[in-house]
Amino acid sequence: MFLGHYAVGLASKSFAPRASLGALIAAPILLDLLWPLFILLGWEQVSIVPNANPFLRLQFDSYPISHGLVAVIGWATLYASIYFGMTRYREGAIVIWLGVVSHWVLDYLVHIPDLPLSATSRFYGMGLWNHRWWTMAVELILFAVGVWTYQRETRAKDEVGLFVFVGFVGTLLLAYAAVIFGPAPSSVKKLAGFALLSWIAIPWAWWFDSHREPRSETRRVGVAGGPS
Ligand SMILES: [Zn+2]
Repeated sequence: MFLGHYAVGLASKSFAPRASLGALIAAPILLDLLWPLFILLGWEQVSIVPNANPFLRLQFDSYPISHGLVAVIGWATLYASIYFGMTRYREGAIVIWLGVVSHWVLDYLVHIPDLPLSATSRFYGMGLWNHRWWTMAVELILFAVGVWTYQRETRAKDEVGLFVFVGFVGTLLLAYAAVIFGPAPSSVKKLAGFALLSWIAIPWAWWFDSHREPRSETRRVGVAGGPS
């Protein structure tokens, strides 16, 4: 799953409006940010297989450190604790914990059985990937809901808040199309390098989010000094 993880990050803004979208988006995509690092380090393995499944040309041979449920709960707790230590924002930390764990749950829906619980467990996955168009429909609907929720929750203060946000949404859609319809990566190194680009999403989301403001607050302030 790709767009669905970003959808969770965008939608989570309505549960933790004071958290930066950069921090919120990092949570549901965290496992896929770590995964290319572990691939390059040789700690996890992936192969490029033309017909691994009807959806992706990748076969996830082993990834218990980034995608094993036990480790995922550890990553979620680590990230939420660091976030809470830095901000003391409880709602933000809870939403971030849930966001990290949501990655495994959403991957569980789409992956063919290749998701482990731990390094020694059997594999899980409901296999929505076996239905190419259903997978795309589910991801696009989730993404639409995420984008809609975020823009309902916040409003642009200036052009950066509007156009950089629109550019972010457009780029994610293009990246998704490239993954599905583009050529298979020629090597695992190139694949990991491409996957590492996802790290850009964090400062990018932080940037436009800092140029947007919660709509509810504007409404309250709009009562012209009246009690809120
Ligand atoms: Zn993943």
